[in-house]
Amino acid sequence: MSEVPLRVRFAPSPTGYLHVGGARTVLFNFLLARRHGGTFILRIEDTDQDRHVEDSVAKILDDLRWLGMNWDEGPEKGGHFGPYFQSACLDEYRACAAHLLQSGRAYYALETPAELDAMRERARAEKRSFKYVRPDPLPTVAQGEAAKAAGRPVVIRLKMTGEPITVHDEVLGDVTMPAEELEDFVIVKSDGWPTYHFACVVDDERMRVSHVIRAQEHLMNTPKHIALQRALGFRTPRYAHLPIIFNLDGTKMSKRDKEKAIRQGRKPPEIEVHDFRVSGYLPEALINFLALLGWSSGDDQERFTLDELVQRFSLERVGRTNARFDREKLLAFNTEWCARVGPARLLEAFKDFLAVNQSPLLKFDEATLTRLLAAKKGLRTFRDVEDSARFLIIKDDEVIYAPDAVRKVLEKNEGAGYVTLAAILTDLDAQTDWLPEALHALLERTCAARSLKMGDVAQPLRVAITGTTVSPPIQDSLSLLGKAATCARIRRCLSLRAPG
Ligand code: GLU
Repeated sequence: MSEVPLRVRFAPSPTGYLHVGGARTVLFNFLLARRHGGTFILRIEDTDQDRHVEDSVAKILDDLRWLGMNWDEGPEKGGHFGPYFQSACLDEYRACAAHLLQSGRAYYALETPAELDAMRERARAEKRSFKYVRPDPLPTVAQGEAAKAAGRPVVIRLKMTGEPITVHDEVLGDVTMPAEELEDFVIVKSDGWPTYHFACVVDDERMRVSHVIRAQEHLMNTPKHIALQRALGFRTPRYAHLPIIFNLDGTKMSKRDKEKAIRQGRKPPEIEVHDFRVSGYLPEALINFLALLGWSSGDDQERFTLDELVQRFSLERVGRTNARFDREKLLAFNTEWCARVGPARLLEAFKDFLAVNQSPLLKFDEATLTRLLAAKKGLRTFRDVEDSARFLIIKDDEVIYAPDAVRKVLEKNEGAGYVTLAAILTDLDAQTDWLPEALHALLERTCAARSLKMGDVAQPLRVAITGTTVSPPIQDSLSLLGKAATCARIRRCLSLRAPG
C-alpha cells in the first residue's frame, strides 16, 4: 500500500481515561499496522502541563492492554525513535524552533494575553471573526529575546505563506483551507513549551510516521501541520480523518454526559473504555463494535474477531458519514460475544471484571465462578452475573424479603408457599449431595410426591434464599449458596411469617 515502511501512531494526551472515540482511533491505527506488517507507535503528548491528569498514562496503557491494542514502540516498549513522551523531547522542539526563527519562517510575537483579548473583543464588537494580524514590522529575533529576558510573555508564531493549503485525505478526499483562514499560529508558548501542533509535527517526522489516522475533530489542524512540515522541510505523511462519533440523539459523546447524568440522578452512561470494562463488557465485543463506527466490510458480515478485522480492514472502506454510537447494538454484540468466547475466556474476563470492581465475589474460587457464569443464561454483561449472585455474599440474616414476592409466592392460597417450604426443608435437611443435579432430582421428587409444578417449589425457595423472585436456576442457586445457609435462610423465612 505504500513504498515506505508503514508506521502509524496513536498519540493520546494524558488528560484522563481513554475515551471510546480514542479507542476507535487506536483500533484503526492498529488494524492498518497489522494488516500491512507495519509498526504501531504509542506516543504520549504531554506538553500541556495544565491539562495533565495524574495517573492518566498508566490508565491509558492499561485500557489499551485490556483492548488487546499492543503497541510496538512507545512507553514500556522503547524503540529506535524515542523518547515516546513529548515532555522528554523539549531540546528537539527548541532546536526546530531556533531553526525556524533563524530562517525567518517563524517570529517572536510580543503581545500580552490582555492585548490579544482586546483584539478579540474588538473583532466580536465588529461582528467579524478574529484573526491574528501579523505585526509590521516584525520584531527581530534580538528584540524577541530581549523582551523574553525582561520577563514579557513572548511566544513564537509560524509565518504563513499566504497560500491556501490542501489536505489530500484518504477518507475525505481533497479539503482546502483558504489562505484567509490560516493565521500565524503559536508554535512555542510563553512558558517555552511547544504547542500541540508543533510537537506533533516534529514527532511525526522524528518517528517516521507514514500515516496519520485520527478523528475528524483534527481535520482543521492538518493544514497547520502541513504548513509546519513545509517550513521545516519535512515530508507530509498520508492523512485519514475518521468520522465523528455521535450519540443516537445527535449530540457528541462527551465525558460531561456522565457528570450531567449524575447531577440528574440517572445512571451515568459509559463514555470511557474503562467505564465499559467496569460495566462488564468484553473487549472482544467493544472492539467489534468500534470497528463498525466508520468502517464496513462491504458485505453483510458484522461479527468480527480482531484477527478477522486485521484480515479485512482497509482505509478505502472507511466512510465519510458520521458514526452513531448505538448502545443497544453494543449490548447485543456483548450478549453474542459472551455466548461465543468459550468458558475459559469468559471466566478470565469475568475475573478481570470482578477485580476492577473489587467485587466481594472475588472470594469465590474458579469452580464457583464458572458455575455462576454457566447458571446465568443469555448473559448480557458481567454486571448481570454479579447482580444475580448478590444473594450469595450477604449474611443469612441480611436477606430482605420483598413484600410483593412474599405476597405473591408465599402468602397466596392461605400460605401454600410456606407449607411447601416447610416440607422441602425436611427433605433438604436430610440431603447430603449438594451438587445441582442431585438437588434438581430432589426437587423433582418433591414435586411428584405433592403433585406440584416445579415453579410451585422453586419460587418459594427462591424467595426464602434471595428475598426476591429472580435468581439463577434454583438447583444452581441452592448449590452455590451451600446447605447450611440454604437451610438457615428457609428457617428464618418461615419464622418471619406473619401470624394469621
Ligand atoms: N494528542 C492529540 C489528542 O489527544 C493527538 C492528535 C493527533 O493524533 O494528532 O487528541
